[in-house]
Amino acid sequence: MSTLVDPFDRTVRYLRVSVTDRCDFRCVYCMSEDMTFLPKRDLLTLEELDRLCTAFIRLGVDKLRITGGEPLVRRDIMTFFRAMSRHLDSGALRELTLTTNGSQLDRFAGDLFAAGVRRINVSLDTLDEAKFARITRWGRLAQVLRGIEAAQAAGLAVKINAVALKDFNEDELFTLTDWCAGRGMDLTFIEVMPMGDIGNEDRLGQYWSLRDLRARLEERHRLVDLADRTGGPARYVRVADTGARIGFITPLSHNFCESCNRVRITCTGEIYTCLGQEGHSDLRAPLRASPDDALLDAAIRRAIGQKPRGHDFDYSRQRADGQVSRHMSHTGG
Ligand code: SAM
Ligand code: SF4
Repeated sequence: MSTLVDPFDRTVRYLRVSVTDRCDFRCVYCMSEDMTFLPKRDLLTLEELDRLCTAFIRLGVDKLRITGGEPLVRRDIMTFFRAMSRHLDSGALRELTLTTNGSQLDRFAGDLFAAGVRRINVSLDTLDEAKFARITRWGRLAQVLRGIEAAQAAGLAVKINAVALKDFNEDELFTLTDWCAGRGMDLTFIEVMPMGDIGNEDRLGQYWSLRDLRARLEERHRLVDLADRTGGPARYVRVADTGARIGFITPLSHNFCESCNRVRITCTGEIYTCLGQEGHSDLRAPLRASPDDALLDAAIRRAIGQKPRGHDFDYSRQRADGQVSRHMSHTGG
């Protein structure tokens, strides 16, 4: 039973941990091409990440998602996954999962399954090789497709996350939905959020409202609204003719904060209790101050006690309002 309850009576059970700010891709909506990364000494060690996650689990978190940056490029990350699997074995943790760009899955899918991971999210915005190279700047589609195949072969359920991007993947809507349906994968669309400086890219120009996307889907398919929520902000529909499940994460056109049960930790040990707000506090200092967890527990409780009601992202005034300065790769998606 979680003892982490915020001022709006929301119980926090879900922790997302960014284990690195580094990435082998440079997606245009996420990073600028010449990103400056944090000095390695600022990052939490794998042992510190373990202690931090273990403290949250002791306080009632039962779902842990590892993200980044690209989590699978962090050196020795499998050691960390293996360590976390003890909390699955004890029953304290219900789910250990991962969000990845898929580039390293070919190598790690089997190890992830062995560590108790059963479901992963893979980010993939296009099935066109040239467009994939353009949107990720450094990525190669074939490698990611190989990774997805390896994941499924290893027994991992794969959900695809696609950022809805105007003039970019609008024309691939049905290609993407059919491709996922054919492979038994859920697909979730995400509205692009105003996070971090991305160089010369135009945020508003990237924004494709999921209301429009859904209307487009309904021109071809009957969609049945589903009640299932996976503890996250996605709303799901069942495509009547294919049976596929499609999710929509709509921070801009539909606010979901009232049911938010999650907090995020950066790779430097800052806790963000809202993805869309600047407010955060430091857990690295209390973590490093003493081998005893009393200071850490108190800092965690203090942070949860300040979880804001919600975010303020808003494009309705034809500006990217509510922008936050940090990149998604810093807080973890
Ligand atoms: N590198 C991994 C990946 O791409 O899945 C994990 C980290 S990435 C920051 C997590 C998710 O955030 C990805 O699905 C990515 O598409 C999404 N993302 C990044 N920047 C975003 C933005 N500005 N708005 C909406 N989603 C974004
Ligand atoms: Fe890397 Fe993921 Fe950001 Fe793309 S979205 S640059 S893969 S962290």
